[in-house]
Amino acid sequence: MTNENIVLSFYKYAEIKNTAEAKEWQTELCKSLNLKGRILISKEGINGSVYGTKDNIKNYKEEVRKNNLFSGIEFKEQASENEAFKKLYISIRKEIVHFGYDVNLDNTGKFLAPIEVKSMLDGREDIVLLDIRNDYESKIGKFKDAVTLGIKNFREFPSAVGKIKNLRDKRVVAYCTGGIRCEKATAFLKQNGFEDVSQIQGGILKFAEEFPDTYWEGRCFVFDERIAIDVNRSGHALTRCGLCGNKADNYINCHNMDCDKLFVGCENCIQKFGASCSEKCAQSPNRRKKNTVQLELSEYAQQSF
Ligand SMILES: [Zn+2]
Ligand SMILES: [Zn+2]
Repeated sequence: MTNENIVLSFYKYAEIKNTAEAKEWQTELCKSLNLKGRILISKEGINGSVYGTKDNIKNYKEEVRKNNLFSGIEFKEQASENEAFKKLYISIRKEIVHFGYDVNLDNTGKFLAPIEVKSMLDGREDIVLLDIRNDYESKIGKFKDAVTLGIKNFREFPSAVGKIKNLRDKRVVAYCTGGIRCEKATAFLKQNGFEDVSQIQGGILKFAEEFPDTYWEGRCFVFDERIAIDVNRSGHALTRCGLCGNKADNYINCHNMDCDKLFVGCENCIQKFGASCSEKCAQSPNRRKKNTVQLELSEYAQQSF
């Protein structure tokens, strides 16, 4: 099928000397290929997700790889019928993922290919899977038996490390959605006395692409209009509807604009309460005008990690 649409995500830490020039290059490239998405550029590298037709995504990848700085960049792809982005947003930032601490990326954790992690888990090796993502992400999906941190955003990671001091002499395998956060997080862990720290190369997306229906449970939160994606072919919901308590794993922003809370709701309750998180919110005069049950890109998602 040539019309199939693709969500492409990627990042690369690389020294970009002229960020303005890189922004212009990306803007023109995306526009010429009719891609929508979000791309962050900084002196430390590039981080992005773009959405477009299969052919245009293929051309995009080729063009990016032609740039010497990004020749080794790793791409992750998912087919998606739902428009993952409504517009193109390219911006220059201080960091490609907001962490706030200086870390030495040359001293990042060892990269493990998904197959290496899979065989460690198959062999029941004594490792600790560390989910370095935010609480609302791990709530709807995580690796079986992974340690989670309960943080609200990635900037809270350094202060949460105190809670896992007991893991300092363990073999820690960290993971995040695509790998970008782990590069900083594992460097930080090593700087703070963790002895054996590695990270899953390509993150959850790459692992699940190669080994679906194995050690991942639930869905995977993503920072775009889709909010959550199925990475397994089969699966069960890890969470419950905030309104009726039945098993559910759909995230939605409350349609009361004064509330806008991100909550888990089942299909029934989303219909019944007009995509609101409570009866009170369903009565609010300040509701989104749309009748359709459409996921709104939440504040959580816009903050990009
Ligand atoms: Zn419900
Ligand atoms: Zn609400």
